[in-house]
Amino acid sequence: MTLPSEDGGELYRSILDELYEGVYLVDSDRRITYWNRGAERITGYPAAEVVGIHCWDGVLMHLDAEGKPLCDTGACLALSSMRSGAPVDSEAYLLHRDGHRVPVATHSAPIFNNGTVTGVVETFSDNRSVEEARAKIEELERLALLDELTGLGNRRHAEVHLKARLDQLERYGWPFGVLYFDIDRFKEVNDTYGHSVGDRVLIMVARTTEGALRSFDIVSRWGGEEFTAIIENVREDLLSGIAEKLRSLVEQSALNMGGTSIRATVSVGATPARGGDTIEGLVDRADRLMYSSKKSGRNRVTVG
Ligand code: GH3
Ligand code: MG
Ligand code: MG
Repeated sequence: MTLPSEDGGELYRSILDELYEGVYLVDSDRRITYWNRGAERITGYPAAEVVGIHCWDGVLMHLDAEGKPLCDTGACLALSSMRSGAPVDSEAYLLHRDGHRVPVATHSAPIFNNGTVTGVVETFSDNRSVEEARAKIEELERLALLDELTGLGNRRHAEVHLKARLDQLERYGWPFGVLYFDIDRFKEVNDTYGHSVGDRVLIMVARTTEGALRSFDIVSRWGGEEFTAIIENVREDLLSGIAEKLRSLVEQSALNMGGTSIRATVSVGATPARGGDTIEGLVDRADRLMYSSKKSGRNRVTVG
């Protein structure tokens, strides 16, 4: 079986060539008659090197999922498909031109001509590399939104969620509030105990905050020793209670350093989101309220 050589043949050929998957055709002697670009990409073999030879001639040398040879054992996928007249799906390892094995998902379907099987079309995809690429992207996305020290989301993470919440407020009227809080006199902690103890205090505040809020509220490290929290589904009266609870739990946290107890307090600004707010406007307002808490003595909450 070859692709039709009339105009229509060229069309099919160009369509097959554009497929991301590998596609090849063998005739009833399992001689390769067509090899698309996807097959070139996955196997490393250009069409010119494989068209005309048999598929068992040292090219693909499929192994099954357990690593056993498929070609010479009667388990050949093309052969089974030709004999049964039905498609065969399998997972196999093919031999790359560079010598390594590539895991592929294969689909072998018989080609009929006037009721007789004249060959097989096999499509195959290197599913592992696609999955690996996807997993890598997810991992990079996660890292791009993560603050490594505390394990909280970073500023970008906060912004992504604030944008989503503002859209929901606009569209559905779902209320939410923002807390902005900053550790009090944190420089003194660093100066007195050193930077690495300062880091542990940051982690302590992050953990206490996560525990103080509900699992669906979103805490992020905005930067340095400043944090934000998105408090879902609350209006002003409830928001001040939540902020006060957070402040109190941080005040009553303590890092034990060989007998010395290191404590921290936070100054909090709390504000409900309002229609027309932008991310910047909303966070600025919470930041200014936090600053009022600093001015009026620290370790307190200002709501506005
Ligand atoms: P205030 O009560 O007015 O907030 O006083 P403060 O000392 O907390 O404020 P200031 O902005 O002067 O100091 C913040 C300090 O936070 C300075 C900086 O060295 C420290 N800091 C920022 N990021 C980190 C970090 O990742 N680890 C440690 N250990 N310190 C950090
Ligand atoms: Mg600060
Ligand atoms: Mg501070």
